[in-house]
Amino acid sequence: MRRLAIRAARLFDGVTCASDPMVLVEDGRITSVQHGATPPPDAELLDLTGATLLPGLIDPHVHLGFDAAPGPIDRLVARSDAEVLETMTVAAAAQLAAGVTTVRDLGDRDYLAVRLREAGATALPTILAAGPPITCPDGHCAAFGTVVAGETALRSAVRERADRGADVVKIMASGGGMTPSTQMHMPQFTCAELAAAVDEAHRVGLPVTVHAHALEAIRNALAAGVDGIEHCSFLTADGVHAAEDVVRELVERQVPVTSPLGQRPIEGAPPPPPVVQRNMGAMQAAMAALFRRGGRVMAGPDAGIAPQKPHGVLPYALVDMVGAGLDPAAVLRANTSVAAEALGLPAKGRVAPGCDADVLAVEGDPISDITALLTPVAVLVGGQRIR
Ligand SMILES: [Zn+2]
Repeated sequence: MRRLAIRAARLFDGVTCASDPMVLVEDGRITSVQHGATPPPDAELLDLTGATLLPGLIDPHVHLGFDAAPGPIDRLVARSDAEVLETMTVAAAAQLAAGVTTVRDLGDRDYLAVRLREAGATALPTILAAGPPITCPDGHCAAFGTVVAGETALRSAVRERADRGADVVKIMASGGGMTPSTQMHMPQFTCAELAAAVDEAHRVGLPVTVHAHALEAIRNALAAGVDGIEHCSFLTADGVHAAEDVVRELVERQVPVTSPLGQRPIEGAPPPPPVVQRNMGAMQAAMAALFRRGGRVMAGPDAGIAPQKPHGVLPYALVDMVGAGLDPAAVLRANTSVAAEALGLPAKGRVAPGCDADVLAVEGDPISDITALLTPVAVLVGGQRIR
């Protein structure tokens, strides 16, 4: 049996901090976490002086099939399955290199993210996959999503996802910025339609998360009992309106919310859609307020959709959240232990006995300087060092 001892200066274990950790790993799992201890003589030693250990990061909202160049939808549609799988392999490697060891793909073409996972040819992050997003006729991402109208079609689309091995159902509940023919502040499905989809999904054991920029779409989704809200921009025709009753419900019910904010600064990159540009400040303020009130907010910066959002962008999103004044430890919890629970993968969110040895080591101390996340020095997946 292979035993590995990892030593570093500091530990953020997914919840709290400690110094001088020694993490013991056996067969891909963490068996003990001690402090100031001497490594057992029979263990291989990984000595990371000066580094901080953390759980591998979890990005709950990526698109492995998008290549992060301008206009990725066109290429996802035009490329062969083999070419998309190659794009996904490169994307997955970039996520791992950035310390993101678990991703949730919230919209591919033809269940290719499921196929990538099943092929398992190279070292991959843990992948949860939604398959193609469900949308309405002429709706957001209709070019590659599953287009449905009415409750019966929604129910059958949900059952297809269960049959095809998806882990989660993704529904486009409002328009989106990447589909200029749709309106981000307008809902795409009624509450009754979303409720039918949720009912069918829960019957087959799948959670439902919805893309919802529109305040009205968030309302519909909450009333329908969805399991998560993506983006959650509170958009109305007049701008961002974080209605108190909606915010209260998000906090009280602890509905998982992913924030699309955060990007890697890239010179000369095309600007986001005008609606997003115009409302960016208000969207940031609303998300920070929801986070501070105890909403179950995680960063989910939509890796792959644009040059500023390459695969592995998540650490930049966390840096931005701290830059917006949020507590660094709370921000780190969001995309480790909180995300692991929200995604139903509790063994992924902690550096603790019994958890999977998916471990990130960064240079410096991310609690005192969050930009430490941008310099990973080691990444382990199931105890295997891949960086
Ligand atoms: Zn997305």
